[in-house]
Amino acid sequence: MPRTDTALAGEAAAATPIGRSAPAKVNLALAVRGRRDDGYHLLQSLAVFTQLADRIEVQGAGEDSFAAGGPFSPDAPAGDGNLVVAARDALRAAFPGRLGPVAIRLHKLLPVAAGIGGGSSDAAAALKALSSLAGISAGDRLAEIGLGLGADVPMCLTARPLMARGIGESIAPLDGFPALPLVLANPGVALSTATVFAALQDRENAPLPPLPRNWSADALDAWLARARNDLEPPALRLSPPIGNVLAALRQAGARLARMSGSGTTCFGLFDTAQAARRAAAAMARSEPRWWIAATTSLASGDTVDG
Ligand code: ATP
Repeated sequence: MPRTDTALAGEAAAATPIGRSAPAKVNLALAVRGRRDDGYHLLQSLAVFTQLADRIEVQGAGEDSFAAGGPFSPDAPAGDGNLVVAARDALRAAFPGRLGPVAIRLHKLLPVAAGIGGGSSDAAAALKALSSLAGISAGDRLAEIGLGLGADVPMCLTARPLMARGIGESIAPLDGFPALPLVLANPGVALSTATVFAALQDRENAPLPPLPRNWSADALDAWLARARNDLEPPALRLSPPIGNVLAALRQAGARLARMSGSGTTCFGLFDTAQAARRAAAAMARSEPRWWIAATTSLASGDTVDG
């Protein structure tokens, strides 16, 4: 029987690795707005994604495999516990018979359990790469599958400046949001999201300030100054070194320093990428044990793999 174009295209796809970036997520602001009966917290968060990213590569293979490399791979779960493997299995369950055996490689540059959504972003990148490999146009179903893997996965699938609400399922991309030079830093202490939420005193907090009409530099700074991360006070109580990181970012010249997510990573905003790189280098000299990285966030018009 003659082979169809689809079969040939599938084979070509299987032979060529497909790579996707899994950018770090930075919560520029985060409000805890309540808790549902099932225990999930209702959040409102303005999040951006950075050029600094993990990398996922997938390729058709004789049997399933998963391998991780990179500086933080020893900290991430090795097998079925890894969200990348969970993403593969969830995609297979949602589209039976579509995704054959696959070799997945993860290059882990982002610290684990650090409040920058590395696991969620890896899962999102795996869903994108695997659906592309299998020729699945999943559309909105990818976000639904992602939400089953973790509350932050839908926003990581969007991977552009956005406002997230609910438990993370409601995502509104922001137009005209600029790229921001940042320094990310943490004291090398992992803090689990569940522990921080458990230490939270007030679960019903005010919403974030109303968004400005445009994101000029002044409007952005004014909005960020009025905004906050409600998880910062409990995280600081659990892990006082976070305070040292915030102080060091300010001392290095950040015009704003705040914790991302449930910590312990904090971000500092700088005027230029060069200023961010210099600040990161100076901080690394005085705190050689911290994880410190200068990067730039993606603007509204930037695409993560483009
Ligand atoms: P959250 O998305 O809850 O804010 P986080 O940013 O603080 O999480 P992650 O790096 O996503 O932290 O890790 C959260 C948990 O997910 C860790 O306990 C880790 O063991 C698990 N995990 C599973 N897969 C991965 C992965 N690919 N990379 C990192 N962590 C993973």
